[in-house]
Amino acid sequence: CGIVGYIGTQAASEILLAGLEKLEYRGYDSAGIATVWEGDVHCVRAKGKLQNLREKLAGNENPAQIGIGHTRWATHGKPEEYNAHPHMDTAMRVAVVQNGIIENYRELREELKSRGHKFRSDTDTEVIPHLIAEFLAQSATATPAHSPSRLVEAVRQAVNKLEGAFAIAVIGADYPDELIVARQQAPLAIGFGSGEFFCASDTPAIVPYTRTVLTLENGELARLTPLGVEVYNFAGDRLRKTPRTLNWNP
Ligand code: GLU
Repeated sequence: CGIVGYIGTQAASEILLAGLEKLEYRGYDSAGIATVWEGDVHCVRAKGKLQNLREKLAGNENPAQIGIGHTRWATHGKPEEYNAHPHMDTAMRVAVVQNGIIENYRELREELKSRGHKFRSDTDTEVIPHLIAEFLAQSATATPAHSPSRLVEAVRQAVNKLEGAFAIAVIGADYPDELIVARQQAPLAIGFGSGEFFCASDTPAIVPYTRTVLTLENGELARLTPLGVEVYNFAGDRLRKTPRTLNWNP
């Protein structure tokens, strides 16, 4: 129902929680965040209000400077903690949040299961981290020379398998300097700070930090690093994009 992401120089957890609070108006039944810290994905999720997530996080915070967050409005699978986002692949190296519906998730799930992937939720979303992990494993042996990074290429390949309306944000344990986002018929905005970048389903989660915003179009994905933002289409072509400055009177 709402997604947020951060990469930069500040501790991500608090920025993610603050962003999720700004998206509360979209409604939700559970929430979660994931960060990359010391070579692992750290994922914390809770059913119910954001306060429940805050309480679970208290004492478990890490200073990770990259992370993604989600408030969920369940469409596939009960509103329980095991269905809350972020979702991960079998080895728990890739974490994904999604806003929307993956229409062809049943077929993808059966295919992935038959290839040994282990599912932990009933959601449509969980196929995405599994697909990305599979493409990452394949690219370990054959990375196309033009690929700017294996993670964005794996996400690109994965979104090409998906049918439906979705916006996603992705992080990987082996990619502490990359946040990948993609959009297809669900809103996603990117905020440009200095040495830090934000993403969110809606701009109220971004404007406390920056008013320089780029709205992704359908069929686009972006690679956010502490150095900047690269935008591609789902075919892998790099696009030239300029963010705009929002006039915002809170
Ligand atoms: N379809 C996804 C799920 O049920 C995402 C729902 C949402 O946008 O919150 O987990």
